[in-house]
Order: sequence, then structure tokens, then C-alpha cells
Amino acid sequence: MTEHLDTIIIGGGLSGLTIAHTLKTQAPGHRFLLIEKSMHTGGAVQTHRDQGYVAEIGPHGFLDNCPESRQLLAETGLDRESVKAPLKHFVRYVCLDGKLCCIPQSPRKILMAPLIPWTAKLRVLGDLWIRPLEGEPTVAKWIAHRFGPALLPFADAVFTGTYAGDYNELAIDSVMPGIRLLEKEQGSVIRGLARKMWQAKRSGSAKKFTMPAMTSFPSGMCRLTERLTEPLVPGTELLLGCGVTAISRNETGWQVISEQGTHTATTLALALPVNASLPLLGGIAPAMPATSIPEAWIATVVFGFGPNAVLPPGFGYLTPECEKRFSLGTLFSSNMFPGRAPNGHIVFETLVGGRRHPERLALDDATMTRLALEDVREILNLPGAPLFSTVLRPASGIPQLERGYGKLLTWRDQLLQDSPDLSICGFGWEGIGINDMIKSAVKVAEKILNASGSQIRQAEIKGVYF
Ligand SMILES: Cc1cc2nc3c(=O)[nH]c(=O)nc-3n(C[C@H](O)[C@H](O)[C@H](O)COP(=O)(O)OP(=O)(O)OC[C@H]3O[C@@H](n4cnc5c(N)ncnc54)[C@H](O)[C@@H]3O)c2cc1C
Repeated sequence: MTEHLDTIIIGGGLSGLTIAHTLKTQAPGHRFLLIEKSMHTGGAVQTHRDQGYVAEIGPHGFLDNCPESRQLLAETGLDRESVKAPLKHFVRYVCLDGKLCCIPQSPRKILMAPLIPWTAKLRVLGDLWIRPLEGEPTVAKWIAHRFGPALLPFADAVFTGTYAGDYNELAIDSVMPGIRLLEKEQGSVIRGLARKMWQAKRSGSAKKFTMPAMTSFPSGMCRLTERLTEPLVPGTELLLGCGVTAISRNETGWQVISEQGTHTATTLALALPVNASLPLLGGIAPAMPATSIPEAWIATVVFGFGPNAVLPPGFGYLTPECEKRFSLGTLFSSNMFPGRAPNGHIVFETLVGGRRHPERLALDDATMTRLALEDVREILNLPGAPLFSTVLRPASGIPQLERGYGKLLTWRDQLLQDSPDLSICGFGWEGIGINDMIKSAVKVAEKILNASGSQIRQAEIKGVYF
């Protein structure tokens, strides 16, 4: 048994590291320990570097429109290192009938573009009159109901791009809770959004809309989690290679059993993906509505080509399921950020698998590479053979917020209400993106500090740059 601590954090991915960073910078006297199962931190955030090519095993970047993420970058000095790809300069495509269709960047421009017939555009306005759907509809059912079926391929591409998911399974209440609330409260999404804009304008709180930028780092996304790990003292503040097997309450707070022994603390923070949290939480609150949620797994096939191959401008493209293609889409990595390929070369990353096609992940690397290249060659102009290729297989699945997920959240919220000294965040709990993780991890750290009465140092707020 080690010294009794103020806080134990379980999970050394971005969520756990953000909690540790916030505790360390805001309350230097607060004694915490971050316990991580694998031999390195970062969790899903991992970068692959080989022969001058830089590719991502996990996330490719995050938008710079989240105040908590901007603050984290400013506090760590990463704001001076970050590289940005502004959305307004980088188009995205949806592959329709085998061709790349450029997707305009705003809903108004999408409606004006000749992507769908005028009758389908008028049907979108049906949202103003149509009654909200009862129950827990899937994304596909909800979009078809509110805006008409013509928008389905675009919605499919969006949810393939974010969740690698199946919009016939994802629940609208879980993936877009704010929009669903607008629909329920105002009877229409369009009316609800218009009213919100009008209220903001009237109260003077309306901000000029600026298109955000995708953010990463010259050496890849792993720089973010490496930088957050740097200040942690090994052995005292950070234990690696140390899976937690059980948690329980005791009279002074929490007892955590790990592969390296027993640890105790006054407060406990779980910063784990939903499916890694549930077995631990099951030990303290058995009436769980589910023991796991579905996950989508992907593989990334990375291709490097010489100067004779040219990528179209933009971020890349996504393919809706109705196109029946081998890959989910392709990211034009060397367009997005500098230094991703040797001078004069290009690199792009093609995504395979996802919620609908887990069977494709069982293919060996050579077969997957061949099929991905055949697929991409039908869309991009790629003379000659690739100079570089590799298959990256992330160790993390992407949590799928499907039907029944709402019940799990209600159960979690009740558990947190009954246990004020417990916090839960991490991959899938409050969304799935980097910004969601940082935002909820900062909230967790603030809750811990407010409860512990630790002396909170006023965080230095540096300028925010767009
Ligand atoms: C393939 C892929 C692509 C993505 N692309 C994007 C993107 O482009 N943009 C974006 O914003 N987001 C993206 N994401 C999501 C983003 O990566 C996650 O939101 C974020 O990394 C989750 O961080 P986390 O710390 O909550 O969880 P994780 O990164 O999963 O970290 C959890 C940590 O807990 C550890 N752990 C698990 N069980 C235990 C245990 N029992 N004891 C101790 N430690 C344990 C794990 O080893 C892991 O290190 C992507 C994710 C994936 C998988």
C-alpha cells in the first residue's frame, strides 16, 4: 500500500493527461497519481514516422474553435508549435457516382450548390413544420424525417468521417444532443437555430463567425500527449505498464487495485474509453444497463507517391456506403500539413473497415494495400506505383453512441450524483473528439479542485490566436 493521495487518475490518454496537467498547474500542492496500463501515454493519439513520411494511427487533428483546447495549448506552449489548415482554404469532397463532389463549407452554400435537385432543397424546409420524432431514432431515420432522403448520402459521409460509424445505428439523441434538444423545444431545427442567432444578436453576445482551422503539430499529433507527459514525475505522478483491475470505496475515499499494488486516494477520476470503464464501474454499481457498447475499428493504408502524382486541393474525401467502395475515404495528408512527406512527394491515408465492414480488417496487409490502391486509383490520378506504403492498425476502437446509449448515460449520471468524489470522462462519454475530451477533462479537474479545497492558482491566460 502506498501513501494516501488526493487524487488517482486512471488512464494516460489525452483525457487523463489533461486532468493531470490541470491539477498540476492550478494546484501545485495537490498530490495525484496517473495510472496507465501500457508502457507509454497517449492512448489513441499515436503518430507513425517512417522514411520521411508522417501519418497518424489515431486522430489527424482537431479544430481550433474550443476555448479549453486553446487554453491547453497556450499553457503548454504548444500554441507556438501548432500547424493549422484553415477550413475555409481546404475543401472536402464526397465521392458520388465515383466522382469527387466538392462540399461547400456552410449549410447555406450547401443548399445553394447543385448537389441535390430543387425539390429536395425545398423538402429541407419541411423541418419547419414536421413534428419531432418520438423515441430514440437513428441518425438516418431522423435526417430523412426532418430534411428528406436526398441529404442521406451527405449525412452518411459525415458520420463515416467522424465515427467510422453506421448512421442506421447511431442514435441522434446521443451524437447530436444539442440539435435534438432544439428540435424538441422549438419544434424545428432551422427555427431553433435562427432563434438562437437572433437572441445572441439582441443580447450583444453574437460573435462574428470565423471558420475554424484543423490543428496538428510538425511531428504529428503525438506531440500533444508527449508534451503533456513531460512534466509528470515517473513513479510519483505517473505509473506506466500498470493496468487497474478493480476499484472500491473505503472509509477515506477510494482504493484502486493495479498490477503494481494497491493505491488509495480521496478522489478518483476514470479517464478511460467507455468499454474500459464499465468493468471497473460494474464492481461498485452493479445495476449497469449494458456491459459494453459497440466500437468501430479502422485500419489506415498510407501511400507515398513521387512528384508525378498530384492530389486534388483540399482535405480529402469520404464515401457514403451507397457507393459500395472498398475504402471509407482518403485524407490528403500532405495537403493539410507541411512536412508529411519527403520534399516533392505526396502522402495520403486511405481508411478501411469501420462499423459496417469489420471483416475487411481481417485482410492481411498486402491484400488490404492492393484493394485500397485499386479503389483509390479509380478516383485519383496516380501514375506509377507508390514509393511507400504501410498499413496502420490502431489499438483503439471508436465508441459508437447507438440506441441504448442514453440509458447508460443516465446510469452514469446517477452514479456520479451518488458519489461526489468520483469523476468519469474519456473516449465516448461526452463525445468522441479531441476537443470533447479536453473540455470534459478540464471540467473533471475543476470539480476535483473545487471539492478538495486545494489552493487554486489563477491560471495565466495568454492571448488566443485564430
Ligand atoms: C482511429 C482514430 C481516429 C481518430 N481521429 C480523430 C480526429 O481526427 N479528430 C479528433 O478530434 N478525434 C479523433 N479520434 C478520437 C480521439 O483520438 C479521442 O477522442 C482521444 O484520443 C481519446 O482520449 P482518451 O484519453 O479519452 O482515451 P484513450 O486515448 O483511449 O486513452 C485511455 C488510456 O487508458 C488506458 N487504459 C485502459 N484501461 C486501463 C486500465 N484498466 N488501467 C489503466 N489504464 C487503462 C489505455 O491504455 C489508454 O492509454 C480518433 C480516434 C481513433 C481511434
